[in-house]
Amino acid sequence: MKEIVRPYKPEISVCPICGSRLVYRYTVSNKVIQFSNGKKARIKNLGYSCPNQDCQASDNIFTSQTASKFCIKGYTYSAKIIAYITILKMQGESREKICAKLSLNGVDISDRNVDKIAEREMKNLNMDYKKNIQVEYGAMMSHFGQIRISIDSIGIDNLRVISVRNSFNNVQIGLHICPNDKMDELKSLLHEYVDNPNIKCITTVRKITDFFKILESCVNREMEYISFIKY
Ligand SMILES: [Zn+2]
Repeated sequence: MKEIVRPYKPEISVCPICGSRLVYRYTVSNKVIQFSNGKKARIKNLGYSCPNQDCQASDNIFTSQTASKFCIKGYTYSAKIIAYITILKMQGESREKICAKLSLNGVDISDRNVDKIAEREMKNLNMDYKKNIQVEYGAMMSHFGQIRISIDSIGIDNLRVISVRNSFNNVQIGLHICPNDKMDELKSLLHEYVDNPNIKCITTVRKITDFFKILESCVNREMEYISFIKY
């Protein structure tokens, strides 16, 4: 079967700091990723940078945040598969049962990889996101004078996995699982991320989704939104 190759450029084409057109530098990652429907594709995440030597962002490599959520360091499974494993594990399912469920959808994964992913994601769920917000927002302000984050929402059954990252370097700031019937909890969580007035841009799900409407109601001020590229 012919391999499907998908190159992804950064969602932004100009430097957010000085406005210069970003130029291609190198391919940051190049991996075959499995998706939750069993399909596979080679995802190339292309790194671009600002050519203006005087710009404080000139050392930063901008990548596709869409591709970054597919190619999470160390994993070759889509964000949805990872979210699914995380939720099943949280519900106490055995790794054998998780493998069996995934294989029904054509996803082949070893017991060992289920364990590795579950372990790592449990760590992310438990990380001190409030401290990470301070550290990452502080670093973005001191390097770039502005804050850019991505907020992804993946719905599985009646739960929602929320993943928040620093848009400049894709570092994970927080990972959360919110039940759909606890809207107040979700909103107060989002407020912790979006209330900072120095946030210039949020990369997130497309505007037609319910999650976008919830997010927008929490932001409730002028904001640049960029959508993840639909796969
Ligand atoms: Zn620049």
